[in-house]
Amino acid sequence: MADVNLNPAKMTDLKPDLLIQGGLLLSMQAGAEPLPDARILIQKDRILDILAPGQENPYPAAAETLDALNTLIMPGLINAHCHAAMTLFRGFADDLPLQEWLFHKIFPAEARYLNFDTVYWGTLLGCLEMIASGTTTFADGYFFQDATLRAVHEAGLRSLISQGVIDFPAPGVPDPAQNLKTGQDFLEKWIGFSDLITPGLFCHSPLTCSAKTLQGALEISRNFCLPLQIHLSETAAEVREVIKLKGKRPALYLSDLGLLDHPLIAAHAVHLDASEIALLAAKQTGIVHVPESNMKLSSGVAPVPDMLKQGLCVGIGTDGCASNNDLDLFREMDSAAKLHKVFNLDPVSMRAETVLQMATAWGARVLGLERQIGTIQKGKKADLIIMDLQSPHLVPLFNPYSTLVYAADGSDVRDVMVNGKFLLKNKAFQTLDAGEIMHQVAAISRTIKAEA
Ligand SMILES: [Zn+2]
Repeated sequence: MADVNLNPAKMTDLKPDLLIQGGLLLSMQAGAEPLPDARILIQKDRILDILAPGQENPYPAAAETLDALNTLIMPGLINAHCHAAMTLFRGFADDLPLQEWLFHKIFPAEARYLNFDTVYWGTLLGCLEMIASGTTTFADGYFFQDATLRAVHEAGLRSLISQGVIDFPAPGVPDPAQNLKTGQDFLEKWIGFSDLITPGLFCHSPLTCSAKTLQGALEISRNFCLPLQIHLSETAAEVREVIKLKGKRPALYLSDLGLLDHPLIAAHAVHLDASEIALLAAKQTGIVHVPESNMKLSSGVAPVPDMLKQGLCVGIGTDGCASNNDLDLFREMDSAAKLHKVFNLDPVSMRAETVLQMATAWGARVLGLERQIGTIQKGKKADLIIMDLQSPHLVPLFNPYSTLVYAADGSDVRDVMVNGKFLLKNKAFQTLDAGEIMHQVAAISRTIKAEA
């Protein structure tokens, strides 16, 4: 509630730019009940206030009003692990054994077809898809990240964009000896560029980066006060190899190198034992659950219910489109909940509300953005989505969490706002030219198909 005793001059400073009224508000604040007929006041990039039905409105009239009758309003979804430009390889190589998929298809295709232009257009397509399906923030790790950053800046999404670091020749970094220098240059170039974009580093994995590289990336991230991303224990084979080479399990190995003493975002975390879960919980490492990619590549099932019991903070991500094959977090949440139910033969092992927390408030915490986003709350950034509830598959509405996770999908998203600005309004893109982007990616895909 605003202070109604403020003097008139001060109150004019509180003139809202937008009033959203009439929807069912799911703030995703811990313990908050869904609020019907909510009024949400937005000023510039922030949520000025939220008024309950019947509550007096002490603010001057908003410049604009948006009717949200028969809708549900919730925080924008957070895709905490993604490689957006991999939309280029959607459906390029499916239903193959993991090693063949990765070493004979994906790595060669990335080496051959990635450049500034293809990463730019592939990322724009990823941004289109994420906007259309209600994602407002994503964490990305890839190569040619100058191109990714340009695309994301044009799209208007919030993001953590990290330069890939790997001890092999990589797209845009042919000499691995330059991998950390390339990363450092990327951070120096883009830090402070935009409120919406945080640059960072992404170490590919404890196996594909040496101890020296991991510690170098840690030192750079520490100097810039930026989180560090990594793939952790995605497959059993990878864990066996780390134990063979380093004499210890991957989480302990990273801990001994000092990586867990820094804000670390660890994606996958499929093959963890109890001691690793306890260690990661003690170090408050951010975990990103990537269920559809883990299912599609037959990597295994991450022990998320155990992680949550031990107090780990877990977000959710899609991974790249080569292993998913879409970026729709509604579908991802549905898969996550059902995967743990069937795996544990226990229908209460993963609840709809829990996976929604993973895609909103907890995802924000994993990315270190919890003070800005993840819940709809007075003073937070205005990152929200509005879902159209007038569809046969969304009626009746007994429990909004269940409806969102088990019945809704990304195509039910009507409006998307990031930082107080609409990126999607009544299903129309506001920042990107969808036709041009799809045309460009289709043209790139014809080259890939002809040469493959
Ligand atoms: Zn990944």
